[in-house]
Amino acid sequence: MHALVYTGTQELVYREEKNPKVINGESIVKVFASGICGSDMHAYHGKDNRRIPPLILGHEISGTIDKGKFAGKKVILNPLITCGTCDYCTNGREHLCGKRIILGMNKPIERQGGFAEYVSIPNQNIYELPKTIDMKEAPIAEPTAVALHAAELGEKELSKPLKNSKALVIGGGAIGLLSGLILSKIKDCKEIVIVDPNEKRLGECSKYLDADSVKPDSKCVIDDHFDMVFDTVGMEVTRQQAIKAVKPGGVIIHIGLTQSSGPFDFRKATLQEVTFIGTYCYTNKDFEKTLKILAKKKLGSLNWIEYQKLKDGFAAFKQIHDGTCISPKIILLI
Ligand SMILES: [Zn+2]
Ligand SMILES: [Zn+2]
Repeated sequence: MHALVYTGTQELVYREEKNPKVINGESIVKVFASGICGSDMHAYHGKDNRRIPPLILGHEISGTIDKGKFAGKKVILNPLITCGTCDYCTNGREHLCGKRIILGMNKPIERQGGFAEYVSIPNQNIYELPKTIDMKEAPIAEPTAVALHAAELGEKELSKPLKNSKALVIGGGAIGLLSGLILSKIKDCKEIVIVDPNEKRLGECSKYLDADSVKPDSKCVIDDHFDMVFDTVGMEVTRQQAIKAVKPGGVIIHIGLTQSSGPFDFRKATLQEVTFIGTYCYTNKDFEKTLKILAKKKLGSLNWIEYQKLKDGFAAFKQIHDGTCISPKIILLI
């Protein structure tokens, strides 16, 4: 099969690879579309110790079952593979399973990803594609589930409904925009500010999201003002903006993984009882709920997604790296 293989820092090669083998309890999916995630970019930059080259990246995948239980069915994959038997897995928090692994990772266990013609996946991770979801757009379900999970974790900690809360979203990438869309279209939140240093990216967000789309130094970003702050970037500077902007008793939701440490105003967090929530992936329930949201087109137009061919994947990664890609998400078509 053809695959886009991550071969070293900032290196991707489109080449011939062995087809995945049929394993008991798994199916082989003929991949139709596969989204480029921020975490694939971390790997590309050589900064992810769970993704070591050579490796086929990609975990936001739609396709058709080629071999296995549901052969011929159009599907969307939940790429988070868990043990199914531990305390977390049996109590609805399978995303925290100690044995979790995502497609397109090879530490601690190898799982080749979806930037390829075929991928193998356990049967329990396969969801039939709802008829109203376009196979091309379907990979957006994965990052949408991340945003939904994050918003609902934060919602539980708020002392008032989200629709009466003020939210700041830091970062206008896919997770930032999707977090904003979940807040606006699902949670009915009316006061949203989204910040990003890239003006073109902001312009793109403002077409689809009812929010103030501004640069990070805008006067719209008022100190001690927001009930909920999403840091979808996870850098020192964005965490500092988050703690400054959050209101006493407010919630910071930390989704980004760009920088793992750095100074943070713990004094304010303590004196003002700020809740800090780290969040990763989603539960199976979140994933199912996301498919329902997308099937009913509740997030509105997804025309902010850009499509490129898998064989041109190297160029797509480079455009994201260079900041010349304005759309918050590129999906590669196989
Ligand atoms: Zn992802
Ligand atoms: Zn488990």
